[in-house]
Amino acid sequence: MTAGHRTFVAIALPEGIRDDLAALQRGLAIGRPVPPENLHLTLAFLGDQTDEALEEAHLALSGLRAATFDVQLAGVDVLGEQAPRLVFAGVAPNPALAQLERAVVQALRAAGLRFARQRFRPHVTIARLSGAPGWSEIGALRHYLAGHAGFRPPPFRVDGFGLWRSHLSRKGARYEELARYALSAG
Ligand code: ATP
Ligand code: MG
Repeated sequence: MTAGHRTFVAIALPEGIRDDLAALQRGLAIGRPVPPENLHLTLAFLGDQTDEALEEAHLALSGLRAATFDVQLAGVDVLGEQAPRLVFAGVAPNPALAQLERAVVQALRAAGLRFARQRFRPHVTIARLSGAPGWSEIGALRHYLAGHAGFRPPPFRVDGFGLWRSHLSRKGARYEELARYALSAG
C-alpha cells in the first residue's frame, strides 16, 4: 500500500440521468450494479496521489477555462479483454468532451502530476462482473445488450466536473468529491 489518495477526475450525472441508468440496470440480471450515487463519467484516472500533488491538481484544474456542453448517452456495451468485466452505457461522439479530457490531462501534466494516460473511451459503468461468466450468463448478457442497444436518454448539460477521491473497501468503492470546477456558460 502507498500512502497516497486514489483519485480521479469525473463528471457527475444529473438525477434524471441516474434514474434512467437505474432503469437500465434493473434489466441486467448478472453482475454487481453500480450504486446510483457512484454513477459518473470518468475524464482521467490519476491513481495514488499525495496531498501535495492534489493541491497542485486543484490549482491547475481551478485555472482551466472551458464552456459547458451537452452529452448524449447512447447504447450499452461491455469492456474486457478475455471476458466481460463491466457493462457500460456509451457516449455519442462528442468533440467538446474529448477536448475537455485533453485540457484536463494537459493541465495536470503541466502542474507536474504523474499518471498513466489511457485512450479516452468515454462511458458510464453501470455494472461490474466478477469471474469468468458461464454460458448462461453470456447468453443473458447478449440478450441484454441487444435489447438495450437503443438506450438513448435525453441529453444532459455538463456544467462542471470534479476531482474525486475513491475509498475502496470490501463493500465496494465510496467516492468523495474533493472539489468541483464550473464550466462557463456559452
Ligand atoms: P471497484 O474497483 O471496487 O469496483 P470502482 O472501480 O468504482 O470500484 P475505483 O477503482 O477507485 O472504484 O475507480 C474510480 C474510477 O476510476 C472509476 O471510474 C474507474 O473506472 C476508474 N479507474 C479505476 N482504475 C482505473 C485504471 N486502472 N485505469 C483507468 N481508469 C480506472
Ligand atoms: Mg475499479
